[in-house]
Amino acid sequence: MDAKALETEAQSAIAGAASPDELEEARVRYLGRKSELAQALRGVRDREAGMTLNALRAALEGAVEARRAELERAELERTLTEDVVDVTLPGDALPLGHLHPITQTRREIEDAFLGLGYEVRDDREVETVEFNFDKLAFDPWHPARSHRATFFFDDNRLLRTETSPSQIFALQEHEPPVYMVSIGRVYRRDDIDATHYPIFHQFEGLAVDRNITLADLKGTLLHFMRTIFGPDRRVRFRTHYFPFTEPSMEPDVSCGICGGAGCRTCRHSGWLEMGGSGMVDPRVFENVGLDPEEWSGFAFGCGIERVAQLKFDFPDIRALWEGDLRVLTQF
Ligand SMILES: [Zn+2]
Repeated sequence: MDAKALETEAQSAIAGAASPDELEEARVRYLGRKSELAQALRGVRDREAGMTLNALRAALEGAVEARRAELERAELERTLTEDVVDVTLPGDALPLGHLHPITQTRREIEDAFLGLGYEVRDDREVETVEFNFDKLAFDPWHPARSHRATFFFDDNRLLRTETSPSQIFALQEHEPPVYMVSIGRVYRRDDIDATHYPIFHQFEGLAVDRNITLADLKGTLLHFMRTIFGPDRRVRFRTHYFPFTEPSMEPDVSCGICGGAGCRTCRHSGWLEMGGSGMVDPRVFENVGLDPEEWSGFAFGCGIERVAQLKFDFPDIRALWEGDLRVLTQF
């Protein structure tokens, strides 16, 4: 084998390779396992010839690497000058999430009351019988005290069944006037259906000041309903019973779908039930050491799921808990 001629031929093939593929072809031809050089190396008998061939192999390998670097640099320069990116073209849309309908509704409710100067709070979910029932003037025979209605850990501790303990905390923490709304999760042993779930969210407001009347309660709820549901809504009261308010009333908001004329959603009454409300029972004031002759107040509460259901015309609240994106992305 003529090493000199082989080197000349190989060097010119390597230098002449115009692309990485051509360079690889040249490398295989002159340095590959079946190349003339590799076969000659396998047949080497004396030291001198071995050194010559090894030097030739090293020189050719160096030439291949040098040419590869040159080709890569040229390719980089070409893409930088030719493949100019048009940054004004629309990109690929990224799938962006949004807030869960419950969170959206919760924040709107918070905003409505912050606008009225209310303090927003969320208290503990594990509660004691004392704060969940006793201090709120639940009678000893009230069905909510049953283990069949409420999740108890033991005889004293339970998962709160409403956000009402916040009323006691707020009144114990500072002297009236108190204007607060408590928002959070509550728990009841309800069977799951289209309108019930054992976990749900409640918001509950409390205003305590001097000379508070039923008219203040109605004005506050009217403001709230119009903020959440729109400026044309009306509010009415129906008398009811709750342990910690006296008198107690259920507020209704006029149906936004039929405008009060009657439709399927409002069961043809023109009105939608929106939780409970009433004037704070004097016994609640006495339980926190306030003089019912001096202080007066009102309280109201409603499920956030209920508000979300009406806002979004949601047929089944189970969908709010199942996390099915096909449903949630619609709201
Ligand atoms: Zn209606």
